[in-house]
Amino acid sequence: MFARDLPAYLDDLLDRVRDDDDGEPDELPVHAEADLDRLAVAVVGVDGQVCTAGDAEFYYPIQSLSKAVVYGLAIDCVGMEEVLRHIDVEPSGDAFNRISLEGGQNRPANPMINAGALTAHSLVDGHDAEHRFARIRELLSAMAGRELEMDEDSYRQEMDDAHRNLGIAHMVKALSELPDDPHDVVDGYSRQCALRVSTVELARIAATLANDGVVPGTEERVLSRQATRHVLSVMLTCGMYDSAGDWVSSVGIPAKSGVSGGIVGAVPGRGGIATYSPRLDKHGNSTRGQVAFEHLAVDLDLHVLRPRH
Ligand code: GLN
Repeated sequence: MFARDLPAYLDDLLDRVRDDDDGEPDELPVHAEADLDRLAVAVVGVDGQVCTAGDAEFYYPIQSLSKAVVYGLAIDCVGMEEVLRHIDVEPSGDAFNRISLEGGQNRPANPMINAGALTAHSLVDGHDAEHRFARIRELLSAMAGRELEMDEDSYRQEMDDAHRNLGIAHMVKALSELPDDPHDVVDGYSRQCALRVSTVELARIAATLANDGVVPGTEERVLSRQATRHVLSVMLTCGMYDSAGDWVSSVGIPAKSGVSGGIVGAVPGRGGIATYSPRLDKHGNSTRGQVAFEHLAVDLDLHVLRPRH
């Protein structure tokens, strides 16, 4: 699926980025206390083949990496037309937690910034907040290949200091349309962000997106083709927050980052890639992870705009 001797290549890749000491972990205690030297990469082909290097079995909260999948679930629940009424698909150039509804906009710019992600969460049609979270957990678990559990510390820490997300949810409710109570939405979204995953599980999740919504290995369809295409589109244009343009140019793989230090990339028709390192740049993207993706994109010729012969 990915030519070359992948196991040796991935080991070597981690050695090439290991000495890059730029960046700091996120401030949330569960991330701030992370071992800064932990480093992992995982690749899962659409044929289900797995290859990893480093600490690929180490677990951490999924954080914003969940936003892409939940957006797909929202599309499958209520349809793209209804989702578009609530969330636009324009790159905002904004930080992930920017309020973003100022200046006369009546809907969040895209589902990758928090305003859009909170809205996408609320569009998942559970009967109530608990049911909604259960659907999200079930989908992410099916993609990851394991029943995912929540990191209670991460959830509590996030809720203890949720003023900004609560503020965003109230703004969305006031200026746009949030189909549920802002507090319930932030609570459910924080649970969603606190689900624990490993780097190899993240690569499996990405491989499902690369495989048109079908889980490699089990061959279960968990997202429609249409939803998966929309997810990949916003990952490509908005997945790396305010450095999304730079990312398309230098890496060119639909991707999503999270403040726990993960980055996932989905290469359509080929497979999923995930990296982990808790050091983040000022945009909240993993520094070593970005450099690793730059190497991967060049070495394995993964830019999605490259002609395929
Ligand atoms: N839970 C975090 C938040 O909403 C997720 C941020 C992220 O991973 N970028 O603030």
